[in-house]
Amino acid sequence: MTNKETHHKTVVIGGGYTGIMAAIRVARRSRAIGGRVTLVNPSSRFNERLRMHQQATHQEMEYLAIPDLVQGLDIEFVEGTATDLDAERQELAVATEQGETTLHYDTLIYAIGSATPTNHVPGADVHSYTLNSPSSANKLASRLTEVADGGTAVVCGNGLTGVEAATEIAESFPSVRVVLLGRDEPAPLMNAKARSYLLGVLERLGIESRTGVEITKVLPDAVVLAGGELVASDATLWTTGFWASPLAADAGLTVDPQRRIVVDPELRSVSHPSIFAIGDAAAIQQPWGVIHGTCQSGMPSGAHAADNIGRILRGKRPKPFRFAYIHQPVSLGRNDAVVQFTKIDDSPSRWYLTGKSAVRYKEAVTGSPSTTYGLSRRLAIPMALLARRGPRKARRDR
Ligand SMILES: Cc1cc2nc3c(=O)[nH]c(=O)nc-3n(C[C@H](O)[C@H](O)[C@H](O)COP(=O)(O)OP(=O)(O)OC[C@H]3O[C@@H](n4cnc5c(N)ncnc54)[C@H](O)[C@@H]3O)c2cc1C
Repeated sequence: MTNKETHHKTVVIGGGYTGIMAAIRVARRSRAIGGRVTLVNPSSRFNERLRMHQQATHQEMEYLAIPDLVQGLDIEFVEGTATDLDAERQELAVATEQGETTLHYDTLIYAIGSATPTNHVPGADVHSYTLNSPSSANKLASRLTEVADGGTAVVCGNGLTGVEAATEIAESFPSVRVVLLGRDEPAPLMNAKARSYLLGVLERLGIESRTGVEITKVLPDAVVLAGGELVASDATLWTTGFWASPLAADAGLTVDPQRRIVVDPELRSVSHPSIFAIGDAAAIQQPWGVIHGTCQSGMPSGAHAADNIGRILRGKRPKPFRFAYIHQPVSLGRNDAVVQFTKIDDSPSRWYLTGKSAVRYKEAVTGSPSTTYGLSRRLAIPMALLARRGPRKARRDR
């Protein structure tokens, strides 16, 4: 074993769902050979992104501290934001409250997630709220409280995030008129019965769901549609679109159009193999297509990247990541939900759950990361228990 191996430094940026999983697992995998792990995140509080629509409607959130989630392992936690990556020198600049610090890495795990961009439609950046962070969710919560007595909330984008947010707002603020806007029918990836159930809940909660609309502008008090129609709004929530941070692209890594790092089947950057990318920040190709950002796929990608780093440190070959979707669990307020079970590529199967059993299922899924971290600190959970595995042959033709 070389000196480098005994002091191998792994830096994980992003302490979200996938980064924490990767940090715990790589600490366990490299412990025997003296590997050192540093985890960097802007806040010591774990950001439960899956619950941002609950936070935006003033629901009490459990305080999960990242140092507690990784306790018992040799992981140094740095509260700070990565501001610059020098991929050639293998250095990361991190802004902390105490000033800027530079971290050198032998291996970097890039896990800084994604955001909903607000720069494609004029006015969306200044006149709409997002669920990108706890602070933006809190601002929406305050605004909803101000307009709770008869105001209108317009949710732009009727993907699953938009649906979850609209139902949560309608349930928590029954005197607020909720308008849900989108190009297509909500939940196009559900089978007809599951989708019909979801549409029935939107109707029961009094949500005005409008499809076939193109939003062209956001004003302080309205949303403008193509053709000029104004939809009055006291609180506009923007939920549509997806992009990753520019950090990787700025550092010269190969990224896709959404700025996700393009990785090889083993989850290493195709341009800079000392960097592994996981979760929403990675463009991960499977035989059936590129994985779209979910916690369901992100946590196994974090575990797999960590396992591959451990394999490489022990002189073994890393293994390709194989993933298959199993479900789309969607909350419809706190009292209803629908869970669509899926085929490996996320297309719907005939099986679905609704009502109270779906509520329990969804809550179990949403609460499962902290349980998984607790178990992962003590046990080597087999990958087969973390994810359904996809077909063996991964395409390398990017
Ligand atoms: C309202 C909502 C509901 C959702 N529901 C579901 C669901 O039911 N099921 C599902 O599978 N997925 C769901 N998703 C998607 C899911 O939240 C993401 O796929 C998941 O969070 C991705 O995990 P991640 O670790 O890649 O990113 P994140 O969980 O977003 O974590 C990224 C972390 O990196 C940190 N970070 C960012 N920039 C930097 C930087 N420069 N330096 C250091 N740290 C940085 C962030 O603060 C954050 O802590 C939902 C998303 C939303 C918004």
